[in-house]
Amino acid sequence: MFLATHATVGAIVGRAAPDPISAFFLAFASHFLLDIIPHGDADLYKDYKRGNKVRLALSYTMIDAIVTAYVVVAIAQARLFDSGLNVAAGVVGGLLPDLLVGIFEVTKTRWLVKFHAVHFFFHNMFVNKYRDVSFMTGVAYQLVILIFLQTRI
Ligand SMILES: [Zn+2]
Repeated sequence: MFLATHATVGAIVGRAAPDPISAFFLAFASHFLLDIIPHGDADLYKDYKRGNKVRLALSYTMIDAIVTAYVVVAIAQARLFDSGLNVAAGVVGGLLPDLLVGIFEVTKTRWLVKFHAVHFFFHNMFVNKYRDVSFMTGVAYQLVILIFLQTRI
């Protein structure tokens, strides 16, 4: 799922949460639930792991990160939240799982092996059992969902 979508859902969860701690953990959990939905990047990741289309995977991630930075700043600038700390904790909680996956991909640190496995258990739950949507279908519907979610913050 787009990082921008995880950040946006994290903001929504954070806005509804009673405090920053629950905002963080609820948004963290939301990440795994969102990743269950097939979103077209399973083959991209598998190719990346095999050493194929590495530039495409890194470009996709970089563009997603830049869009996410813009979305997060736009959320912060466009809205006055009663609970800005909760929203920030939700954004961080929503993004953290993919950041940890990225740290694992770069460092291969042992303390993230199980986390990585858990992340991809959820990420590939439907994809491995059925199939993923095409890359372009995933990008297209995620863009629609991302734009729609901006109206829900
Ligand atoms: Zn993820």
